[in-house]
Amino acid sequence: MQNDRRKRLYRRLILFYLAVLVTGYWTGYFWPLLACVLGLHLFWYMVQIHWLLDWLHEFETTEPHRGHGVWGDILDYLWRFRRSQRTELRRLEKNLQRVEKTVESLSDGLIVITRQGELQWWNVAAQQMLGFRGDDIGQALTNLVRDPRFVNWFHQNRRHQTYVMTHPRSLRVLQFTNNRHAAGNRLLLVQDITRLRQLEQMRQDFVANASHELRTPLTVLQGYLEGFSDNRESLPPRTHRAIDQMQSQTRRMVNLVNDLMLLTRLDNADDQVPQEVVDVPELLEQIAGDARELSGEKAHEIRLDCATKARVRGSENELRSAFSNLVFNAVNYTQPGGEIVLSWRQEGTKACLAVSDNGIGIAPQDIPRLTERFYRADPGRSSETGGTGLGLAIVKNTLARHDASLEIKSTPGKGSTFTCYFPASRLVKTGPMPQYR
Ligand code: ADP
Repeated sequence: MQNDRRKRLYRRLILFYLAVLVTGYWTGYFWPLLACVLGLHLFWYMVQIHWLLDWLHEFETTEPHRGHGVWGDILDYLWRFRRSQRTELRRLEKNLQRVEKTVESLSDGLIVITRQGELQWWNVAAQQMLGFRGDDIGQALTNLVRDPRFVNWFHQNRRHQTYVMTHPRSLRVLQFTNNRHAAGNRLLLVQDITRLRQLEQMRQDFVANASHELRTPLTVLQGYLEGFSDNRESLPPRTHRAIDQMQSQTRRMVNLVNDLMLLTRLDNADDQVPQEVVDVPELLEQIAGDARELSGEKAHEIRLDCATKARVRGSENELRSAFSNLVFNAVNYTQPGGEIVLSWRQEGTKACLAVSDNGIGIAPQDIPRLTERFYRADPGRSSETGGTGLGLAIVKNTLARHDASLEIKSTPGKGSTFTCYFPASRLVKTGPMPQYR
């Protein structure tokens, strides 16, 4: 359609200039006539350009005047472009409003922080949780939330890392999650986890209270059963088996209650871990002695291999309980005569304690779940050993309190290795190396 118009225009132009040339030739004014017509033509183009520029200045608000020829096409094109731009703009505005409404209706807070750590934007939830005011834009977040541990976490700027704190004024428990945002900015997600914490606290209180309440009757039961056992000759022989079974089950219950209470204590221990200097080789020496006693007639070969003099800063009691759990498990899940090695060595900047055995091993699908409470790879075998199913959960909690981590490697039928890695920040390397067997 436009092409036809253009062709017609060019045809008319050619005919017009031909007519001018012929007229010029016949009248003898060829050059003056041509110059005159070209001048007028140029003038007409100048006028059109002038109108176009005028209109472009008010492009957004006024309609173009009617143009002729190519100028008409240009104005048409610009006019249509403007209309489509407007429609697109309206669509984008609507989308933006929808996104804004969605973000504002979130119950979780969102905060955009610039590369320099200054507040750029936040939603209503974040404003309510942290009490920001309009003129806080451009302020450093660490000027408004001054908790030193929060400031330290904020400066680490690790992706997806969380930090939990109680807001000093509202006393709400807030969890911050750090995320990357566009153009080097950061997006902090703030969640109010007060209710979750309360439920967690209720669960822990319930377990702590129930364990505590069970302890007294169990102690009484244990006392009477010991009395019966000591005087078993005076009792009818058919009661002996029942007494033995009651004693072993009561012992299991006492172990379970003790482990539950220990776990609750570890869960609730918000305080810093004691900063005792723990002589790990000496501790392992004692634990190996206990393990030999536990092994008894099973006669496991229990070896110590201490290749570093590094000591750990932490709680000796907690570490003793965690390491004992690993070593006693090795005894319980290794066939008689099997080999158990406790090694303490340096790996890069870390020190690691490994407890290896050549026992029954663990199936690969069980390994990730072993540190869950009451998870047992082989429930039958575990109850035979008198295990509570809480040992590795205690190990995991204790190690976390010491900034350490647990790695489990195992091959069914061949054996397992449980390794605890302690970071350099927890190690004390000074002092003479004690001598061990
Ligand atoms: P339990 O009291 O049942 O031993 P733990 O939490 O200490 O509970 O261990 C969880 C489970 O992990 C055990 O039931 C057992 O199946 C498995 N396990 C732990 N240590 C070993 C090991 N050295 N060899 C094989 N299996 C093990």
